[in-house]
Amino acid sequence: MKAILTVNSGSSSLKLGLFAEDLSTLAMCHVDRIGRREAAMKIHDAKGRGLPMPDHAPKAFATNTQALRTALEVFRADFPGLEVVVIGHRVVHGGISHAAPVRLDEETMKDLARLAPFAPLHQPHNLAGVRAAAELFPGTPQIACFDTAFHRGHDFVNDTYALPHAYYARGVRRYGFHGLSYDYIAGELARTEPALHAGRVVVAHLGSGASMCAISGGRSVDSTMGFSALDGLPMGTRSGQIDPGVLLYMLQNEGMDAGQLTDLLYKQSGLLGMSGVSNDMRTLEGSDDPHAAEAIAYFCHRIRREMAALAASMGGLDGVVFCGGIGENSAPVRAQACAGMDWLGLSIDAAANAQAARDIGAGRVRVLVIPTNEEIIIARAAKQVMG
Ligand code: ADP
Repeated sequence: MKAILTVNSGSSSLKLGLFAEDLSTLAMCHVDRIGRREAAMKIHDAKGRGLPMPDHAPKAFATNTQALRTALEVFRADFPGLEVVVIGHRVVHGGISHAAPVRLDEETMKDLARLAPFAPLHQPHNLAGVRAAAELFPGTPQIACFDTAFHRGHDFVNDTYALPHAYYARGVRRYGFHGLSYDYIAGELARTEPALHAGRVVVAHLGSGASMCAISGGRSVDSTMGFSALDGLPMGTRSGQIDPGVLLYMLQNEGMDAGQLTDLLYKQSGLLGMSGVSNDMRTLEGSDDPHAAEAIAYFCHRIRREMAALAASMGGLDGVVFCGGIGENSAPVRAQACAGMDWLGLSIDAAANAQAARDIGAGRVRVLVIPTNEEIIIARAAKQVMG
């Protein structure tokens, strides 16, 4: 049986998708906390039934390659005669030049490795996933799909910072991320809500990483993330937008070096840093610590600010879509993020929101909850690039 494999390789997680040639889902795999003792693999078929692990499978996974090898063994046991004909990878950064998926060769891999300083906590792990797959499937074509690609058509004012122009030429630009998710949502709108797709929509991808995108007529015109995956909304452990003066102060007065600052901004801030409780929204919602409520309030406040800013970029707002782990599952966050936004025509129906309905708007602006699917976007692209 011929199949397409998708790989989303992160610093301590691995997500795999196995698709038939007609792009129907065969199986999914998610491994968390790789490198730690509690690393766990969840693997299930298209109907959500768990697939059995081999007896000799490691209890924990030390590396992404080890996890990939075990998952393939499970896939092969469940789909005898499985032949992976193409592998699609999520790669966070495509730089200035990649506005579409690309087949990977040595030269392209070198180019993408040069972009590692632009996304130091993501790009090296994505490329390590490519190398691990190449080792297990020598000769099988590999395709990279970029989180930045969906945003490459931004106008200059949404692509630049107010720095001397030489930095723009050297790649210091607003790239935007989560593009695979936005691409999927734009496609779903085109398929199910053509009138809304033709209009002005803000998509809020709220997960461990979180960003929002202004999509007008199906095209990304602005995003809350910029040069790095740190900008915009606060996230599980990332700060989101911050006055650059704070960073100068930390370097000059708090005795921090670049490494400590990186750790602070990427790993110690956001919901975790503010609450002191957890980076996980479910835990915060269940906590009676007042700092947990403060962290949620800040998160929702920033969503409201960005909503208005993105509406301004599009000259109006016709719809809002929530997706990602928080956007799809947290009725309280959706309610708080839309509270007091009636002036923009945005309000939600409390009952529909509580029931997790697809259509939860109560005002002029449509409000939808649409589960995102980055894996299918990668599989489609891999199939398309291979013709
Ligand atoms: P990632 O960026 O790692 O893919 P996800 O999209 O899976 O992240 O989102 C993870 C976030 O979603 C976590 O903060 C988690 O607490 C939150 N989440 C998942 N389910 C719920 C729920 N039922 N209620 C509130 N938050 C939820």
